[in-house]
Amino acid sequence: MIRINLCISVAKLLCFITNHCEKENEVKAFGNYINGEFVDSKSGRTFPNINPANIDEVVGNFQASNEADVEDACAAAVSAQEEWAATPATKRGEYLFKAADLLTEKLTQLGEEMTREEGKTLPEAIGEVTRAINIFRYFGGEGARQFSYNVPSERPQVLCYTIRKPLGTVALITPWNFPSAIPAWKIAPALIAGNTVVLKPASLAPLSSFRLVEALHEAKIPKGVINYVTGSGGSVGDALTSHPAIRGISFTGSTSVGDALYRKVSDRKLRVQLEMGGKNPTIVLRDSDLNYAADILVNGAFFSTGQKCTACSRAIIERSIYEPLVQLLIEKTRALKIGNGLNPGIQIGPAVDSHQLETDLDYIKIAKEEGAELLCGGNRLSGGDYDKGYFIEPTIFTGVNPNMRIAQEEVFGPVLALMVAEDFENAMEIANGVRFGLSASIVSRDLTRVYQFIDKIEAGLITVNLPTAGVEYQLPFGGTKESSYGMREQGPQAIDFYSETRTVYLRYAQ
Ligand code: NAP
Repeated sequence: MIRINLCISVAKLLCFITNHCEKENEVKAFGNYINGEFVDSKSGRTFPNINPANIDEVVGNFQASNEADVEDACAAAVSAQEEWAATPATKRGEYLFKAADLLTEKLTQLGEEMTREEGKTLPEAIGEVTRAINIFRYFGGEGARQFSYNVPSERPQVLCYTIRKPLGTVALITPWNFPSAIPAWKIAPALIAGNTVVLKPASLAPLSSFRLVEALHEAKIPKGVINYVTGSGGSVGDALTSHPAIRGISFTGSTSVGDALYRKVSDRKLRVQLEMGGKNPTIVLRDSDLNYAADILVNGAFFSTGQKCTACSRAIIERSIYEPLVQLLIEKTRALKIGNGLNPGIQIGPAVDSHQLETDLDYIKIAKEEGAELLCGGNRLSGGDYDKGYFIEPTIFTGVNPNMRIAQEEVFGPVLALMVAEDFENAMEIANGVRFGLSASIVSRDLTRVYQFIDKIEAGLITVNLPTAGVEYQLPFGGTKESSYGMREQGPQAIDFYSETRTVYLRYAQ
């Protein structure tokens, strides 16, 4: 009897283990979200979302959508438009507040998912989801603050003022490197201004924005107001930006795709906003605390594996402090802990995919060929768990000439080019001598130089004694030169892109 019971228990245990393992291995399929429902693509195909720190792990399967799915999403958004625009903005804000509460309940889970799909460390990922939540709350509040303009008329008994109207249905196209914050900072102002949305997230990291959309669904946002369609840029992105129902496009991604998109839609006179690449400098002047400056450079250049549009990729250092600062920089860079971002203490995760890793390694090769001298890093990491992912050493080059490709082109990886400046004027000349103008920083205690830097630097985001990266949602964000086109994102100014101003002249007596 005892033996029979034991056999049953062992059988149950085996059964539990088998079921559990099957569940563990089961890869969840995530639908598109169209007209208030999670649906499969009409293509019948999906694509995998792979963990870049462990390429054996498929984080989820996502819909490989086609033109027919885009058509459905646009039709749903258009039919929801009138009622959504007529909904009081404060009521629209309530959906954002509710979604923010729901996301907060799942903060750790969402952070872990982001680390698994994008590779950034867990603290960075939790920080990013927190930011997305704050963005939802901030723009929820903007429902009560969409100010217009009211001025005295030059005629008697006439009121002159402006009103805001939504654009209509807008297309939001987002990159993989901030897979929650960037979709959030497009979705929230678009919705609060009364637009309906079709979101196409990056194929490398679609899960984080799926969670934003799911939270809005659970917050019971009316059907059709937000739609989410996954699939490649070439099919979904192209179909979406060609669709006649789309009245505005907000794109964040590479300069090459942004440029092509602009050329394609410019004839249609759509409202377009493009946030693209950067080649962001940090200038370090001779009066700086060198230890502090080295920390700023390591943070700006290497955290998030250098995969931030605002990452520092050029350090421009005054000659008299060059050697001691470079020594500190090498020590601090070699001490960085690289690995799977889910593991405690890891500071730098992997490159997002094999393509980005190849790009990083290609630029390292190009820099050597052009005559730059490798100071540290430069290799793909291998052995043990490194073999499972796309890990690369943080890399520093010295002897960089400002005309070299490593000093001019965006790498989007953990590669820092060091350049010597003879003085402040020379540093500014090097800093401004690129086609990009996203962010720039200076490390100095010299107030005069700092103000001259703020006045003359060609960048949309200027930081002083801080890394080039690290923006806050309550202020406008965007670049100059070839980094950006169109109106600013984030802050109260974000509403300007998503609304049209109409001017009213009202005579209150006949
Ligand atoms: P990307 O390759 O340009 O892709 C961005 C988005 O565009 C993705 O959703 C992509 O879809 C889509 N796309 C691709 N081809 C398209 C087409 N023909 N029509 C419409 N959409 C298309 O950029 P990424 O590699 O994801 O992101 C890295 C780049 O983004 C870097 O250059 C970085 O500097 C920039 N970035 C800029 C900012 C900023 O605010 N300035 C912020 C973050 C990142 P698939 O994913 O399916 O290809």
